[in-house]
Amino acid sequence: MARIDIHDRLQGQRRQRLAQGRQRQRRTVARRDGVRLEVDGRWLTGFCSSDYLGLASQFEVAAALQDTAAREGVGATASHLVCGHHAVHEQLEREMAEWLGVPRALLFGSGFAANLAVQQALLEDSDVCVQDRLNHASLIDASRLAGCRLRRYPHLDAEGAMRQLRNAPEGAAMLATDGVFSMDGDVAPLRALSLVARTQQALLYVDDAHGVGVLGPEGRGSVAEAGLDANDVPLQLATLGKALGGYGALVAGDADLVEHLAGTARPYLYTTALPPALAAASLAALRLARRDEWRRERLRELIGLFRDGASRFGLDLMPSATPIQPVLCGGEAAALAMSAAVERAGFLVTAIRPPTVPEGGSRLRVILSALHTPQQVQALLAAIADARDRVAGGREAVA
Ligand SMILES: *Cc1c(COP(=O)(O)O)cnc(C)c1O
Repeated sequence: MARIDIHDRLQGQRRQRLAQGRQRQRRTVARRDGVRLEVDGRWLTGFCSSDYLGLASQFEVAAALQDTAAREGVGATASHLVCGHHAVHEQLEREMAEWLGVPRALLFGSGFAANLAVQQALLEDSDVCVQDRLNHASLIDASRLAGCRLRRYPHLDAEGAMRQLRNAPEGAAMLATDGVFSMDGDVAPLRALSLVARTQQALLYVDDAHGVGVLGPEGRGSVAEAGLDANDVPLQLATLGKALGGYGALVAGDADLVEHLAGTARPYLYTTALPPALAAASLAALRLARRDEWRRERLRELIGLFRDGASRFGLDLMPSATPIQPVLCGGEAAALAMSAAVERAGFLVTAIRPPTVPEGGSRLRVILSALHTPQQVQALLAAIADARDRVAGGREAVA
């Protein structure tokens, strides 16, 4: 084996991505005003953020952040177990647990870190983690970090999960799934999965990053929507960066399991606590998310409007009842061309391509927010349909 130069290797990989048209580009937002974004000197209407309830720019949420930062400073200055654990962190954990109807919740710096922590702290080499094929990247990477065996089952297939668990009868087992899938917007069959977990003595873990705040009674998420509780789902992930409009995440559920994470999970112990001001903002957001049923109602209306309009225009939708509404585009080049055309019409919608989604699954991922107006949704639909016609008719340059 010869030593490999990392720069050389990167160059080869970059060339390959370019040849496949798979280079990725960040867009810089100069200013933001609700769903309006200033990008490259133009104001666009964004249909790509996960600010489902419009809480990221809500006045009381921003005020809580400002007030707390003015009083307590910005950084937490230490990890939770040193001296970074603030009363507002504690209050956020208590109210999240109460909202979700579970005994205990633990605050993490991000959902990605929380997912790493859960498997790293609970699973060992001889254990197995059985996961939906379309689970979030952080759940997949968590199994690698834990060193356990990772077995995947076909998307939404509870029987497939059962088979994988039966095939791995030794060691402890976790069954992990997204509650709402981030690229497809569909919802995991949680009742069936909880039965599978029960019969196979597996711990069911639901990553509800996109469900909390959006689904279920009081916005308690996909677990509550499925009529399940902490006995069925011993641990779940609630993120603060999506419907709650902030940053960070909580793992919520069984007190014993959560205490174990607090005492042993490396992504919890060896990192600086979230800024207290952010926790205060999330606390304000949580209360609004819980109270403001009108935000969810508005969202449901817009989802209905979007789906009705899309079917009138003959757009290729996926079976999603959530604010994540993918429009399938055929190939990768068509998805990129449609995204560019839609942007010229004044809308920012992300084209999602392999390897993020399977080959042939390239799409525009439209994400709706309670802040959108019906007029904005109608205008978006017309722009997408026009873009599709232009691409299909060869009037739109395809890369
Ligand atoms: C966004 C997301 C995460 C990561 O959460 P962050 O707080 O953004 O790190 C985890 N799981 C799913 C399903 C997500 O969509």
